[in-house]
Amino acid sequence: MTDLAIQSEASLPQEKLARQLASVLQTYLRKNQVEKVLKAYHFGAQAHSGQVRLSGEAYICHPLSVALILAEMRLDANAITAAILHDVIEDTDVSKGSISGEFGEVVADLVDGVSKLTQLDSRSRAEAQAENVRKMFLAMARDLRVIIVKLADRVHNMRTLGVMPSDKKRRIARETLEIYVPLANRLGMNNIRIELSELAFQAMYPLRHRVIDKAVRNARGQRKEVVGKIEATIKKRLDDSNLKCEVFGREKNLYSIYQKMVDKNISLSEIFDVYAYRLVVEKPDDGYRALGVMHSLYKPVPGRFKDYIALPKENGYQSLHTVLVGPYGLFLEMQIRTREMHRMAESGIAAHWLYKGDTNKKSYSHEPTNEWLRDLLEIQKSAGNSLEFIDNLKVNLFPQQVYVFTPKGAIVKLPRGATVVDFAYAVHTDVGNATASARVDMVLVPLQTRLENGQTVDVITGEWARPNPLWLNFVVTVKARAAIRTYLQNFKKKEAIALGRRLLDKELDAHGVRLESVSEERLENAQKILKYASLDDFLEDIGLGNRLPFLLVNRFFLEKNTVGSNHDEMGRSSGSPLFIKGTEDMVTTRAKCCRPIPGDPIIGFFNPGKGIVIHLDDCKNVTKRLRHDKGWLDVQWDYDVEGDFSVEIRLEVKNKRGTLATLASTISMMGSSIESVDIRDQSDEISLDFITFTVRNRVHLANVMRKLRKLQIVVKISRVKL
Ligand code: MN
Repeated sequence: MTDLAIQSEASLPQEKLARQLASVLQTYLRKNQVEKVLKAYHFGAQAHSGQVRLSGEAYICHPLSVALILAEMRLDANAITAAILHDVIEDTDVSKGSISGEFGEVVADLVDGVSKLTQLDSRSRAEAQAENVRKMFLAMARDLRVIIVKLADRVHNMRTLGVMPSDKKRRIARETLEIYVPLANRLGMNNIRIELSELAFQAMYPLRHRVIDKAVRNARGQRKEVVGKIEATIKKRLDDSNLKCEVFGREKNLYSIYQKMVDKNISLSEIFDVYAYRLVVEKPDDGYRALGVMHSLYKPVPGRFKDYIALPKENGYQSLHTVLVGPYGLFLEMQIRTREMHRMAESGIAAHWLYKGDTNKKSYSHEPTNEWLRDLLEIQKSAGNSLEFIDNLKVNLFPQQVYVFTPKGAIVKLPRGATVVDFAYAVHTDVGNATASARVDMVLVPLQTRLENGQTVDVITGEWARPNPLWLNFVVTVKARAAIRTYLQNFKKKEAIALGRRLLDKELDAHGVRLESVSEERLENAQKILKYASLDDFLEDIGLGNRLPFLLVNRFFLEKNTVGSNHDEMGRSSGSPLFIKGTEDMVTTRAKCCRPIPGDPIIGFFNPGKGIVIHLDDCKNVTKRLRHDKGWLDVQWDYDVEGDFSVEIRLEVKNKRGTLATLASTISMMGSSIESVDIRDQSDEISLDFITFTVRNRVHLANVMRKLRKLQIVVKISRVKL
């Protein structure tokens, strides 16, 4: 290290790299663009100063090398600049804003995007969910150049893996094979795919790599002559047909040989019986002609011809493939493609950002790839809006899905439109059933919040929490829906049984009898006569209002002579009222006409199948029915009812600008939440509004109304009830 200190500036490794980068960039970028890139180098070197890599060299050497990889692919200036700065947000105190100020928003967005992927990378490490991570990468990158930079980053990290401890090496190598190689493949970036897979294969299985490498070297020596002979024969035949065509002998990379051996159980010698050639022609037409020439030179193997020119692969790859039986019975694998197709095959989607200098306009024309890619590129070009572009990509790749994180970094895949509650049930039914509230990216949100890609969702459960029937209105997953239904059904049953027991108890109490003291025999007798399978079923039906307790008590549980002794002329039992706790809302409901709230005098009715419906004592619907119906019940709010209950008020207010906002803020300041606002009538001066909001009880409502009444704009206010 002391050597380094006395080295002159110009001979520092980073200076060397920067010069190398500049000389590559000069071959295809304008001078001012090269200067911008160099400015980024100085900026980055400053930000990373003092940081060193494991190898001991200055940190800035890494981003410079990443930029060099992309420069060799001839990527545009913005991508190169972003590559140089790709670690500054993550590893230094430089902000996105300052990058934007120095290098523009495009570069800042790219750097920010790469940083996000880096976080995703380390967060999801615990879980081997490669497929999901890949999709998230695509979903989260708003500009595909983000992924291209990220892939180049990984290439350089793999090249410099040597200094890492071996367990870390293997982990990074596995991640490369599981995530980055398929990603490069998906985007058609073959050069990167091959380099990554070779490096990862070597790091992951050093021994196997060495064996295959040695075997390939041996074979290469033995085959040299044969390969050359065949190549010469092919060339001559093509020349004779006046076809301008380059011929290359091709070697399979080691990882693909290894994969073939594993997947297809083929021995090394069988693999070496196959020779591979690539013909590069000028025009697609020439490709088909060259194919014809080859098929007349050697016999093709039936069923092995594939036309990826007419029918490109999904990632845009185009070529003609065929297999021939060559001299000595050797198999010859042929790939025939144009130069453009070749470039596409090597760079894939990155080809879109290859810099097109003004001097050689012809060098890059849009060779039709496949529709998928072409459409995307079109949108990217025309919209100039990468958001729309990536949305389209998402729709194309995984139309129906959203990927979010648990707080521990596991990925949960949900259908598009899924809410916090869906997430909770996806994690576990017990979590769903106990969901009380939730944080999305650290912020408390309503449970019906729809989730977006990349968010971290933290469900807060409570012992007292339970599924709300309203959830059924917004959940989208089958699992959540089914679990909520099941829970509610069970819950309703339990609640109904408990209520049935209380009702029966209360009725008996009026006659001075306790339910516990009623003999089993009598209960069973009643249950049998009424054809219930169990006592619970019997009680449930009472709770649901299908059996009226006072009739049952009269019929089954009392001595004949006491009938009616404690009842008024309507047949109701006297005695203490039934207390409504507000928690048994599955079997007790508040009537829609008058919406009683805790503190209001109330009266209950049995509604067969549904349980008890509670009305205001003076509800108009009640007084009418009272005279005809025997099914009413003496009820009273319990003393400590908890919960929010909606009420409606009628307001006559001055019709002025801002009136509604004033009303709304007054109501919410009082701790109520507004459920709906209905403006029924509006004249020039007065507006008639109906507002529904929640209150805890009658006192709370009175306070809210008092506050409203004090407002200058309120002319008249009243609670709506029938
Ligand atoms: Mn990096």
